[in-house]
Amino acid sequence: MFNSRRRLLLVAPLVLATALVPSVANAEGPFVPPNQNTVNRASMLSAAEVESTLHSLAARSKGALRVEEIGRSGQGRPLQVAYIGTGETRIWIQGRIHGNEPYGAEASLDFLKTLVSGGNHAREVLEKITFAVIPLYNPDGYEAFQRQEQVHRVDLNRDWGVDRRIFDQINAVRASLGQPPLSENTYNNYTRHRAVESQAFWYAWADFLPHYMVDLHHQGTYYVDDTDEMTTFSVGISLDPGMLEPAQWDAVRRMGVVAADAAGKSGVVNVTRYPYINIPEGVTSASMLNGPGPRGEYANWRTSAMFFESRGGIGHKSSGYIVKQNVNGLWAITDAIADGSLASVDADRWSQIPPRGATIQTCDKFPQQCEY
Ligand SMILES: [Zn+2]
Repeated sequence: MFNSRRRLLLVAPLVLATALVPSVANAEGPFVPPNQNTVNRASMLSAAEVESTLHSLAARSKGALRVEEIGRSGQGRPLQVAYIGTGETRIWIQGRIHGNEPYGAEASLDFLKTLVSGGNHAREVLEKITFAVIPLYNPDGYEAFQRQEQVHRVDLNRDWGVDRRIFDQINAVRASLGQPPLSENTYNNYTRHRAVESQAFWYAWADFLPHYMVDLHHQGTYYVDDTDEMTTFSVGISLDPGMLEPAQWDAVRRMGVVAADAAGKSGVVNVTRYPYINIPEGVTSASMLNGPGPRGEYANWRTSAMFFESRGGIGHKSSGYIVKQNVNGLWAITDAIADGSLASVDADRWSQIPPRGATIQTCDKFPQQCEY
C-alpha cells in the first residue's frame, strides 16, 4: 500500500539523496529495477567455490586458519567451519543458513581474507579473539536456491527448538509484559535438530562456546521508517528482551549500534532496526538461551547473538555494497570487542536506530521481489 501523504512529504529527502549519490540512485532508485528479478547467481560463490576459497585461504595463512569438516549435509556436501585466532574471546559468524540468502558467504570470506592477510590490524585482533566462521551453513539449500535444507525441508533457523523449561520461561516473561502466551501448538511444532546440519552445528557451537555470534541474512525490500528511502541493511535481535540476562541485552544492543554506525558510514547504505521478533527456536535465540542439543544435553552457555539482514532484490549491480555493509558491520563489532570499547557503547542508542518501515510494494510489478 503506497501512502500518498508520505510520498508528498518525502519528495525533498529523495531528491537530496539522488543528488548526493547519483550513480546508485540512477541505477536503482529506491525501488528495484525489473532486471533484478532474475537472480543472477553468477555473482555468487557456489558451494564448491566457497569450499575452495576456504582451502586457499587456509593454505595462504601458514597454518593460522584451520578448516574443519564437522559433518555432511543431508545431500552429502561438506559442512565446514573455519577457525582462526588465539584470543580468549570467541566470536562465531555464520552465513547462508537460508539457502536463498547468499551474501553471508561472500561477506564472511571477505572478512576472513583480511584476517589471514598478516597485517598489523589482523594480528592484533587475532591475539584477542578466536573466530569460528561458517560461510555456508546450508549448502543444499543454497544449491537449490531455497530457504530450507533439502531432505526434510526444515528451516534450519527454526530447528534448534527449545525445551519445556525454556518455553515456560518465555511464557512467564510474556505474562509479566502483559503479552499473550505462546500456544502449545507453537511448542509442539518446534523441530529439534531434525536436520543433520542442525545437529552438526549445535555440537560445533557447544565445543566452541562463543561469547558472541553474528548471523548473516537477507530480507525483502523495505522503507526506512516513514521515509521514501529503501533499507539496505537491518540489525536485529531475535528474542524478547526479557528472556536475556541484562548483560546479554546490553551486549547485543551494543553490537547492533556499532554495526549500524559502521555500515551506515557509506552513503549508499541505509540502516534500520529489524522489527520485534521472538523466535526461540532460531539458532541465534537458542544459543542465547542455553538451548538443548540433539540428545537433550546442555552446553551450559549463553552466547550474545544478533543478526544482520541485507536488502533483497539481489543481483550483480548491488552485490558490492551489500557485501561491504556486512563486512563493515562485522569489523566494527570485532574491533569494539578486541579493543574493549564495546563495553562503553551506549546500549540505549539501539532504540534510536530508525525502525524498518513498510514493505516496498513492488510485487505487482516485480513478483519475484516478494519471494524473499
Ligand atoms: Zn534469513
